[in-house]
Amino acid sequence: MIGPEDVGGVHVKYLYHCRRQLWLYARGMRPEQLSATVQLGEAVHETSYTRSSPVDLGAAKLDHLDGAAWVHEVKSSSRPSRADEAQAMHYCYRLRAVGVDAQGGILHYPKTRRTKRLPYTTQAAEQAEADIAEVLAVVSAPDSPPLLARSACRGCSYADYCWNE
Ligand code: SF4
Repeated sequence: MIGPEDVGGVHVKYLYHCRRQLWLYARGMRPEQLSATVQLGEAVHETSYTRSSPVDLGAAKLDHLDGAAWVHEVKSSSRPSRADEAQAMHYCYRLRAVGVDAQGGILHYPKTRRTKRLPYTTQAAEQAEADIAEVLAVVSAPDSPPLLARSACRGCSYADYCWNE
């Protein structure tokens, strides 16, 4: 089972999107590698932010850290979600832990040409720490969390697995 240092941005994103997805992901289920949605996301990333320099923090890999220590994340969706925001704050948390004075996150939505700036506050830091504890609680549960309402599963790469009956 994973420990606090193994929790990365994907775990946090799934915590906010669907706890069942997080639980399955932590057990090695990776249907997202074949997902058209993920492939679209990769294509958007490759064509939208070509000057970015990915930063690898081990469990967490962020798209780009600029010279003013803002984390940039490029998203394939049209608008910000709590999952996107939590993921960006998680990266700030990880950066601070290794001595980088991260200032916050800037989410980029090329489809709608929107950006959202999220300063890294004390409250965000506390939430990021709580998110890690919550990820560990979800993945260590013996049973998978319940399915979401079917309408919320649209576009999820795990849908064939969850709804195969
Ligand atoms: S298909 Fe629905 S219940 Fe299953 S992991 Fe995806 S969002 Fe969660």
